[in-house]
Formats: sequence, C-alpha cells, structure tokens
Amino acid sequence: MSHRSAILDAIDIKKRGGELSKGVIRQVVEGYDSGELPDYQMSALLMAIFIQGMEYSETLALTKAMAASGRRCSFPHCVDKHSTGGVGDKISLTSLPIVASCGAPVAKLSGRGLGTTGGTIDKLESIPGFSFDLSEERMRRQVEEVGIVIAEPGDLAPADKEIYGLRDVTGTVDSLPLIGSSIVSKKVATGAGYLLYDVKSGSGAFMKTPKEARKLAELLVHLSRSLGIEASALITSMEEPLGIAVGNALEVHESARFLRGEASPTDLSKMARAVAVKLLKLKGIPKPEDAVEEAISSGAAYKKFRELVATQGGDVKALEKLPVSDEVREVVAPQAGYVAQVKALSVGRAALLLGAGRKKKGDKIDPGVGVEVLVKIGDEVEKGQPVGRLYGGRNVEKAKGLVLEALEISDTPAGRPPAILESL
Ligand code: URA
Repeated sequence: MSHRSAILDAIDIKKRGGELSKGVIRQVVEGYDSGELPDYQMSALLMAIFIQGMEYSETLALTKAMAASGRRCSFPHCVDKHSTGGVGDKISLTSLPIVASCGAPVAKLSGRGLGTTGGTIDKLESIPGFSFDLSEERMRRQVEEVGIVIAEPGDLAPADKEIYGLRDVTGTVDSLPLIGSSIVSKKVATGAGYLLYDVKSGSGAFMKTPKEARKLAELLVHLSRSLGIEASALITSMEEPLGIAVGNALEVHESARFLRGEASPTDLSKMARAVAVKLLKLKGIPKPEDAVEEAISSGAAYKKFRELVATQGGDVKALEKLPVSDEVREVVAPQAGYVAQVKALSVGRAALLLGAGRKKKGDKIDPGVGVEVLVKIGDEVEKGQPVGRLYGGRNVEKAKGLVLEALEISDTPAGRPPAILESL
C-alpha cells in the first residue's frame, strides 16, 4: 500500500468510527514525516481521530510508528521522569540528583520550555557553561562515571514533532490518544528502562481535573509497559505554581536550597520526595523512603547535583549566586483575607511577559527574570503584605496585573489543596 492510498483509507475508516490497521498507521506516519503527504490530508485524519477516538491497539501502533521515525537511544538500566508540564515545575532538578545519589542511574533527555511551561534545559542553562550537546557515547560514559546525565534529545521521534506542529494549529491537541502516543513515542526513543510520569492536574495544567489526569496517566503507563518500559505515575496538583520560584535562575536557586536541606515550600518538598521514592521503587532499591531522606540530610543529593553541573561544563561556583535581574518589584495584597487561589496559568503568563519563557519556538529567553510567589492557597494575608516579587524590566505593569489576577482572596479560610492527588 502506498502512502497516498493509506491516508485516503485512514480518513475514510476513521471518519466512520472504524479501526485503523497497524500497516495503515505506519504508512501514514512515514508518509507525513517524509513530506509526501500534505498537511490538509493529515489534518483531516487528526480531526477524525479527535472526534472518533482510537482503540488502544491503534494508539500503540501510532506510538511505535512515531518512535521509529528517528534516532533511538538505549539506556535500559536508567531511570527517567516525565512531567506533563506545569508552572514552577522543578521536580526534575530536585528529584533526579536524589535518585542518582541513591544508586539509580539517570539518563534524562529533556526539552526546552514553550508558553507557560518551563523546560529543564532552559533552567540548567542559566548556569554559565552548562552544556547539553552530548554525544550518546559521552552520555553513556557520564552515566557510568557520575550516575546522572541530562541532555537535549535532538531528533528523537521527528514524526511526533511534525504532527504536533500540525495539531497545534488544527485544534487537535487535546485528544487523549494523540497526547499519549506523542509523549510515549519520545520516551521510547530516549530509551530509559524505568519511567515515572508526573501527570499534572488543575487549572495550570493540560488536564484540568483529576479524572482527566488519571485517564492520561493510565494510558501513559499502559503504553510504556506494552513497549517494555517499567512505568508508574503520580497525579499531582497544578492549581498554584509549584514552590515559590517561576523563572529559570530563580528555580535553580530554589532547587539548590531544597537539595541542601534548607527550608522549602511544602509542595515542592513533598513532590520531589514522592517522585524520588517512586523512581527508586521502580528500580527496586530497598527502603526508598529512608534512602531519600539520607540523601538529602547527608548532603549527598546536593553533591550529586554539583557533580552533574561540573561534569557538563557548568560553573559550580556560580551556582551559589546565579545572576538574577536587579530590577525587582513587589506586588502586595490588595485586601486582607485568606488566599483561595493563586492561578498557576496567570503566574506563568506573568513570567512569560517578563521574558522567562518563549511564546514561540526560537524566541530568546532571559535566565535572570521571573516571578516569586510568596503566598500559598490557605495562607492568611494582610492588606499591603507582599504576595509576589517580579524580577525583570520588561512588561512589568502587565506582569503585575497578571499576578494580581492570579490571586483570589476570600473572607473565609480556604483549605490547602493536597500536593499529590494519586499514585498509580
Ligand atoms: N506533550 C507532548 O509531548 N505531546 C502532547 O501531545 C502533549 C503534551
């Protein structure tokens, strides 16, 4: 069957709610990735999939076809984690050095941030000299010698990149089988044998409710296991930003403070520990809770983080005092009461306006700008009390407006939302 006849078949079958064969899916993915199939036909198919859904076997076939479209790495003894994206999400920076210092090797292939979602690569790049451009051979050596490597994946699952670009402009992003196959195809291509998915749920996340997040988590775990990866998932809250800092250097500072065992926000502290424990469990490390506490309190986790930075060319001395913008502006509570909301999405947009993220691929970011959110849902505040701090000189008034918009203050006490909603 040619690519051209496969796409016609696929559109016709899927628009009627039928099931696509593995062969048709493979031909379509290959044909689109090679540029032979035009956007308008692929858009029609994506919309049909969006409306009709996919059986599990079709989603699995799509995942395999996209994973096979580019380079495949292989780190079967390594652990990795994947977050579905959130504001102030520094769980990779905090949990992975812990895990590595407990003896579970880490090979993480990470992305750059887009929109309000930050990327681990951008955060680490705020450390002068830190380099991600590593050959697979070099990555392998670093895993052996240091126990942890974080690199940029390059052209893993290129078909997913093409298809995602089209989904983004055709209203077909929020389809469970398309999201599941997109994420897992990249994870299969990165090649870690043990994988934890941190699926965010809430107003600042892709999945708005725990029910939607659970469905995605179940699909990610099922697809991964079908493809030979030991996987599990946590469903975690993304109603308010994670921790205090949103912005690259600010988040590295906050992560370093946590790893040094200094006082840290409860949500960050709980989530980083929970992710580390789950990863150690997946890898079969005994007494994972004790191992995690020991790694933090003994300084081993922070030492491992410094070792990672130094090995990848980063300036370890600069780590203690990464430059942040000296243009700092406080945002104060407009009234007294109890914090009922700190909408993560609005805070993310404020950080984006200050220059911490990119609106579109290729935009330049400023590592030293961002937002610190000084209150959490459930806190009591006085009128005029500082609730946020803006770093940076761009769009400051608009950013301030967004932080104020994020904040909802009520007369009645609000309960603190749990950081971890479910464990699969
Ligand atoms: N992240 C991905 O990598 N793919 C999606 O489809 C959605 C989120």
